[in-house]
Amino acid sequence: MGIKLQGNKIYLPKLGWMRFYNSRPIPDGFTIKACTVRERQNGWYISIRIEDKSIPEYSTKLRSDNPKVIGCDLGITKLVHLSDGHQIENPKFATTKKAKRTLKIRQRRISRKVKGSKNRKKAAIRVGRFHQKIGNKRQAHQWKTANKIVSRNVDVIALENLNISGMMRRCKVKTNEKTGRFLKNGQSRKKGLNRSISDAGWGELILKIEYLAVKQGKITMKINPKHSSQECRNCGHIDKSNRDGEKFICVECGYHEHADIGAAKTIRDRALKIVRGDSAKLGASHLNAQKTSPRSKSKRGEFGNLSNQDIKVAKS
Ligand SMILES: [Zn+2]
Repeated sequence: MGIKLQGNKIYLPKLGWMRFYNSRPIPDGFTIKACTVRERQNGWYISIRIEDKSIPEYSTKLRSDNPKVIGCDLGITKLVHLSDGHQIENPKFATTKKAKRTLKIRQRRISRKVKGSKNRKKAAIRVGRFHQKIGNKRQAHQWKTANKIVSRNVDVIALENLNISGMMRRCKVKTNEKTGRFLKNGQSRKKGLNRSISDAGWGELILKIEYLAVKQGKITMKINPKHSSQECRNCGHIDKSNRDGEKFICVECGYHEHADIGAAKTIRDRALKIVRGDSAKLGASHLNAQKTSPRSKSKRGEFGNLSNQDIKVAKS
């Protein structure tokens, strides 16, 4: 039947009683709703969802008429640029020189071992553990970053509405029409960028910001970032050549500032426009405005490496 807990033992439907490490107690008044069992590189993990109906739901309504808004621009050289001029580092856990080297060596050690042998398995476990370590570090840094942003003295957090899978799409295949041979299409260069994008983990970071914001009664808004880093904040001129690396210099009026912080300010201003336009409707509309694919919805409940490793969700 349902899931039961007793000290360091847990009862799972169809599996029965088993020992586990009870990392934190369930507070009084909560009932167990569901639990997720998943296998990671160094063992099995279980997370338990609990509910207390006497606790009121978080409100998502804007409390003041003149809300303070902060804009966030996500990047790779720095993970986040905020519209108040602050920047948050991107530690690049999987794409530093050291990490790439370690991965390469450990991967090579697998391929040098006899197929199907015990030693090959052991080597594979070592690679897995390294990947897990990187993942854990990234998660920890994302929580810290999200906390830093959300705990600022603001009411609304404006985020970019990024199409991450679109950004990571492969380059189109180019072929020579006469011979049918493949030509260089820039994919090998793009590969490095794609790895950096996935290493930064923007999507997971956005989820964490949204999660913490709801808890603190703050609102998150997804803003269309189109041209946010090319548009001049002084005269509105949009030009690719306005931007030169980290510097932004308008070719029309000569206005200049830090490019990414400028982009964050543009995102903030776009959010302000929406907030001032219909602050009454915002509470309801921001929830609908978040486009969530079914995949990201399943990720919403728990953070971590949920995916195909997510083997069983039991409901009580
Ligand atoms: Zn300008």
